[in-house]
Amino acid sequence: MNLATDEAGTSLKGNYKKGFEYSDCWVMDSRLVIINAQDAAAKGAEIRVRTQLISAERAEGIWTLKILDKNSGKVSTTQARVLVNAAGPWLDTLLPHISHTRTAEHIRMVKGSHILVRQLFTHERAYIFQNNDDRIIFAIPFQNKFTLIGTTDVDYHGKPDEVKIDSEEISYLCKVASEYFITQIGPEDVVSSYSGIRPLFDDGTSDAKAATRDYVLKLDTGDEEAPLLSIYGGKITTYRKLAESVLKKLSPFLPGMKTTWTEGANLPGGDFSPDGFTGEVNKLLAACPAISKEHATRLIRTYGTCSHEMTQNIKTTEELGTHFGHQLYSFEVDYLLSHEWAQNAEDVLWRRTRMGLFLSPEETVHLENYIIEKSSILTATDEEK
Ligand SMILES: Cc1cc2nc3c(=O)[nH]c(=O)nc-3n(C[C@H](O)[C@H](O)[C@H](O)COP(=O)(O)OP(=O)(O)OC[C@H]3O[C@@H](n4cnc5c(N)ncnc54)[C@H](O)[C@@H]3O)c2cc1C
Repeated sequence: MNLATDEAGTSLKGNYKKGFEYSDCWVMDSRLVIINAQDAAAKGAEIRVRTQLISAERAEGIWTLKILDKNSGKVSTTQARVLVNAAGPWLDTLLPHISHTRTAEHIRMVKGSHILVRQLFTHERAYIFQNNDDRIIFAIPFQNKFTLIGTTDVDYHGKPDEVKIDSEEISYLCKVASEYFITQIGPEDVVSSYSGIRPLFDDGTSDAKAATRDYVLKLDTGDEEAPLLSIYGGKITTYRKLAESVLKKLSPFLPGMKTTWTEGANLPGGDFSPDGFTGEVNKLLAACPAISKEHATRLIRTYGTCSHEMTQNIKTTEELGTHFGHQLYSFEVDYLLSHEWAQNAEDVLWRRTRMGLFLSPEETVHLENYIIEKSSILTATDEEK
């Protein structure tokens, strides 16, 4: 594309004359996890959030698993015919607690971080910029008001749950973005950031950015014992392929299990055609005139067609319920508590939505108090049942 005439060029420095364009998909990672869990639950799986596997013993073809409910502190046991270690960055630390494992491979933890700055461009396309260290970074429009810039590749040796961005990564991302954008950014412009760990297969490469991004599956059947399958690496992009590969490897132990079915299967809320997005927004607006177009767009983007169920009883502004700030009302919070295993304000604001970007500390406290009250009502109702 000609950057002198295309809108994509307007926010870039004048020395960039030519660009190349392709289409890709994007997903909010934590929502992908939730809708997969919902899908699994609908197919009969039992989902236990905030539950930690402490240890696993295998004997006579059966796993006995000790699990901790982190909310109540209670430890219980359960049994399984097969065990899949999909603990990502925690894979290595979990393995010693699994009896008789012979897995010699390790993961390599590579930290990646993102920063969020005020919107650097107003169109809906994303940029991928080539840096002179042979890496690329991206800049993606985010929640209408921000630009998301990432990522970094840094070997990590700490505890996975303590990962956070460091000042070198912030400077690096600001510097590379400022090579391209007219608007120059520095650490003071960062409004939010987040980091994660890529649990890559340790293939012995010296450079973090060169470590393989392919997944590796290791099946440990011991001496005709109950199988353990460990997953190293993997991408969001290929997660369904990976899941099917896991089932193929486990199929001798799970007779009758269908291994290949996901190619055309929708996730919850995804039952509309790729070009049907605007139609779903309009349908929602027609059925629920109490919300704005921007609000409806966010709901369809977040929940797809499940938004229709969520808003089915709402016709008036009053029926939106308690207002917590920005576009967040109790009808959505109630849905998250009852349908998406949310248990506190952080779940709602950061792991189910990104409304945390818009709510003040006082509004967050209001939400937290609402959730505590609502959860005690839900628990009391459950006990009555
Ligand atoms: C910065 C960054 C950018 C990325 N960008 C992309 C991208 O653009 N495209 C792409 O396709 N992929 C991308 N990835 C990779 C992708 O995010 C990961 O490959 C993916 O999240 C791995 O998923 P996972 O389920 O294997 O591990 P995780 O998502 O890490 O999940 C592991 C889970 O195991 C749980 N767990 C750990 N121990 C226990 C235990 N004892 N008991 C119970 N549960 C336990 C943890 O709580 C966690 O929920 C990126 C990763 C990072 C860090």
